[in-house]
Amino acid sequence: MSDVAVGLDVGGTKALAVLVTRQGEILDELRSSTPHDSHGGAGAATAKVLAEQVATFAQRHGLDAATLPIGIGMPGMVRRDGRLAFAPNLQTVSGASFPELLNESIGAQLVYMENDGNCAALGEYAWGAGRGIDNFVMVTLGTGIGGGIIANGELVRGQSGFGGEIGHMAVQARGALCGCGGYGCWERYASGTGLARLTLEWANEGRLPELTALRGGAQNVRGEDVTRAAGEGLEEAVTLMNDVAWWLARGLANLIAILDTGHFVIGGGLSVAADLLLPNAREYLADLTFGYDKRPPVVVAPSDLTVHAGALGAAKVAFDRQP
Ligand SMILES: [Zn+2]
Repeated sequence: MSDVAVGLDVGGTKALAVLVTRQGEILDELRSSTPHDSHGGAGAATAKVLAEQVATFAQRHGLDAATLPIGIGMPGMVRRDGRLAFAPNLQTVSGASFPELLNESIGAQLVYMENDGNCAALGEYAWGAGRGIDNFVMVTLGTGIGGGIIANGELVRGQSGFGGEIGHMAVQARGALCGCGGYGCWERYASGTGLARLTLEWANEGRLPELTALRGGAQNVRGEDVTRAAGEGLEEAVTLMNDVAWWLARGLANLIAILDTGHFVIGGGLSVAADLLLPNAREYLADLTFGYDKRPPVVVAPSDLTVHAGALGAAKVAFDRQP
């Protein structure tokens, strides 16, 4: 049983690697760009980057890749057998088996895969904002919305391993087209790209006049312009962020109705705007949640582990699943 494990969090643009102790302490950390070329077959280019990260840790810390537990968090549908069924935001890795690829390249024998949102949930549950909370939902507001459901102290993986894809819950029947091919998915409204989409829509409708003038045209107004201006109190930007907060609450209320969860941990890139989103989302929840006043107070808390949640959770997966 190894005292350390590697956690790899593979995103659409970056791959973050951490070397972690059983107590969740990060001993070392590496960041690489995620390649998007498909040479060598599904996932080969990405696996090469991950193998280099593991090899660097092994060399720096005198570890053997063959006996080092390695967990990989992937943005997509990860089967229980570790094969990646589908990654809408990282198409070149769809179908790849990273345990096989890392075994071939660096002789790694203990490689385990899990969905990245599920990893973030496990990370927060072990060492972050979900510690001691046996029923909570992790919500990562990034390019899309990732998620992981902890129910009765267990990760909800579902029959195939695809559980917890909360971002693809439809919140608007016949709404905006999603990368998954569906319409009206939650992540088209309350994620980073959701904010970008709403920003463009509002700017084109003339509802962001000051930002449009400032940026020299509706097409130039970006989501980050809105978060910055909302932080400075510009009313049109505050109003748009309130709309995003409403969409966030809309999805959380659905999850409460289904799971009877009373606790959410909010992470991901857009959570830098947590101060702008969470207070309003909490208020909207009171209106949108079925039987709100019959329930204990709902907690909507920011992530503790922030950018490391997914990688730490991937390491936790490796610790838990190694034989
Ligand atoms: Zn979708």
